[in-house]
Amino acid sequence: MPPYLSVIVPLYNEEESVAGLVDGIREAGKRFGFDYEIILVDDGSTDGTWQIIEALKSRNENLKGIKFRHNYGQTSAMVAGFEHASGEIIVTMDGDLQNDPRDIPLLLEKIDEGYDIVSGWRINRKDHLSRVLPSRIANYFISLTTGVRLHDYGCSLKAYRAVCIKSLKAYGEMHRFFPALGSMTGARITEVPVRHHPRRHGVSKYGFDRIFKVLSDIFAVNLIIRFSSSPLIGFILFAIPFLVLALCFGALCVSAILGNWTSGKALFFMVSAVLSTMAAVHLVMLGFLAELVVNASDLSHTQLSKISKRAIHVAGAEAK
Ligand code: UDP
Ligand code: MG
Repeated sequence: MPPYLSVIVPLYNEEESVAGLVDGIREAGKRFGFDYEIILVDDGSTDGTWQIIEALKSRNENLKGIKFRHNYGQTSAMVAGFEHASGEIIVTMDGDLQNDPRDIPLLLEKIDEGYDIVSGWRINRKDHLSRVLPSRIANYFISLTTGVRLHDYGCSLKAYRAVCIKSLKAYGEMHRFFPALGSMTGARITEVPVRHHPRRHGVSKYGFDRIFKVLSDIFAVNLIIRFSSSPLIGFILFAIPFLVLALCFGALCVSAILGNWTSGKALFFMVSAVLSTMAAVHLVMLGFLAELVVNASDLSHTQLSKISKRAIHVAGAEAK
């Protein structure tokens, strides 16, 4: 029998925290009342993290370890965990003891209420202002652009119905967008306040450059959410301003010829009209290409509707 719950933790150079993390999850697990597994994903650590995972594995039969040869990032580590998870419900959390496994039952209560994705909200966040402030700004923009209203997208402590998250493709820093991507499958999403502790060991694995990665991911995720099922529409929208420009330059060119303006002006307007038309035509052609690519990939509308049907089936109430 597969366990009901899979707890997935990405770890990059967290040798001082791993043992305490597993102890904490086991302690909290005593009150779960169902089977669970712990999946520790070593994201290419260069310290002793993997050796400690192996030692813990020999003592805990419900513990799985996954090792990357190279540091691929937190999102990729989480996705690898999803692929190896056998639980119906998946909980993700950080491995540096900043999230508290005692909060897992709070998330699961919401899942029992019928939600498909439950996000932790670190009301009393224990990070330096230089981290909290950019995070607040990112939260504002993610909320504004994705239409999924949460206070704290960056909190790793989240619970998912496995069907809602397993089929999603994610890369870069996209783990904070899992709820937004999940919303494409019709997932019901909510949040619960959770505890947060200061980092006790090691250092944060992120620097200032995270801001730019998150910004580019906001853009990418918005494109995916808005245009993945019909990218042609997106490309046509981009092409419209170029078509308008082409018409304006064309009209100016005709005026220049009829009004006997200088031949240099007429030529300039003609070349501009031709270039704008070419840009518009290229964009529409790219749209057709994107439409073909999307239909051949997992992002196609049929794929998404399959995922959402499965999600609804598992959610229970709607299936009846
Ligand atoms: N992490 C990872 N790969 C990375 C960066 C981070 O697996 O490339 C893990 C890290 O070990 C921790 C979690 O992701 O378990 C969150 O990272 P961190 O605590 O450094 O982020 P912060 O709390 O500073 O946002
Ligand atoms: Mg941390």
